[in-house]
Amino acid sequence: MSLIVAKFGGTSLATPERVKDVAARLVEYHNQKHRVVAVVSAMGKSTDDLLKLALSINKRPPSRELDRLLATGEQASMAVLAMAIDALGVCSVSLSGRQAGIVTTSVFSKAQISEIHADRINEELDSGRIVVVAGFQGITPKGDITTLGRGGSDTTAVALAAGLKADICEIYSDVDGIYTADPRQVPRASKLKSITYEDMLELCASGSGVLQMRSVEVARNFNVVLHCRSAFSSDEGTYVREDQKSGEGESVEESIVTGIVADLSKVKVTLRGVPDRIGLAAELFTTIAEGGVMVDMIVQNISEFGTTDISFTVPESELPRLRPILDGAIEQLGAREYIIKEEMVKLSVVGAGMQSSPGIAAQMFRVLAEAGVNIDMIATSSIRISVVVGYDKVERVMQALHTAYGLDSSEDFTDTHLSAEELAAKLSKGR
Ligand code: ASP
Ligand code: MG
Repeated sequence: MSLIVAKFGGTSLATPERVKDVAARLVEYHNQKHRVVAVVSAMGKSTDDLLKLALSINKRPPSRELDRLLATGEQASMAVLAMAIDALGVCSVSLSGRQAGIVTTSVFSKAQISEIHADRINEELDSGRIVVVAGFQGITPKGDITTLGRGGSDTTAVALAAGLKADICEIYSDVDGIYTADPRQVPRASKLKSITYEDMLELCASGSGVLQMRSVEVARNFNVVLHCRSAFSSDEGTYVREDQKSGEGESVEESIVTGIVADLSKVKVTLRGVPDRIGLAAELFTTIAEGGVMVDMIVQNISEFGTTDISFTVPESELPRLRPILDGAIEQLGAREYIIKEEMVKLSVVGAGMQSSPGIAAQMFRVLAEAGVNIDMIATSSIRISVVVGYDKVERVMQALHTAYGLDSSEDFTDTHLSAEELAAKLSKGR
């Protein structure tokens, strides 16, 4: 008998039929004598709908009230799933974040789980029930409802798996695993059997949306094995776990590069003629951070005649908030001007193997050069190389990189023998 935590994404719960399918899967686990805790996201796109509702009433809704509203999405899905399980003749109980003992920090809309009091869940499991927990939410020590940021149900599931010492944390969604690249961009992308926490964290940071990044951090910190798989099939997906090099007969990808990710919605900002003095970067980026804007890939150029240029990228969605901040900063810092370059892409190549393998960056730049692509910015970590390039040729370049690093699968997602429907189904799995 093992303890399974199984998380279901919104698409897997979008219709009554799908809720019933999820219930059937959970009942199967239960009948195999496993202890089962399900963690649910809101049905379909209901979080987006709730968000739109809030914004139609108040353009800047108070964050406490917004969290309260958004948390109801998961509360609806936990109740219907418990009903569906009951309809199959198995006892189930749904628990909100508060009832499940999930205590968080008090930062509304991006709270972090600080403690889990699992007594109630354990009691319910002991009495033979399937426990269904509302993902994405918790409660502050003061008793206010918080949410964990978009995609936060992943983190609820992993944190519960850690707190309950589960044997595995299954992440069910419309994607059947982690791919070497998004199959919609790279038709020869291949599904990984397993990936390490480090590589997965870099993929998340580079813009892969398969898992909430925080959930991977928690998994790594508590050594929780994740299994990302499709809710629509019983096929094995991708395991996220410590390197298994010494594992018996386990085939773990040996390639130097694990995956390629394109973050499509980037804007490059350059401040020109910034006075080169101590404390300037601190002032500039403090102002930007206080405006709540997330900055990525900062590059400062060589200084000449007492001034320098500073470039950085931000998500395109941050631009309306960033412009007034920059207008103020230019004045305050005595910089000459700022230039904004839109429709940029951050293209990242990730893999722990590159630490011990020279020439990976050179190979990347060569592929870009051959494709006639100009590089705007370059940044690296020990297991990632990222470049910022223009939007237009990105898919061609990704495919060329995928081939160059030997990642191509023999299966092609644009195989002509697939019907349009099969192809659509296959591609939708790739996200
Ligand atoms: N329902 C929330 C969202 O859409 C949380 C989640 O799905 O994990 O972001
Ligand atoms: Mg998600």
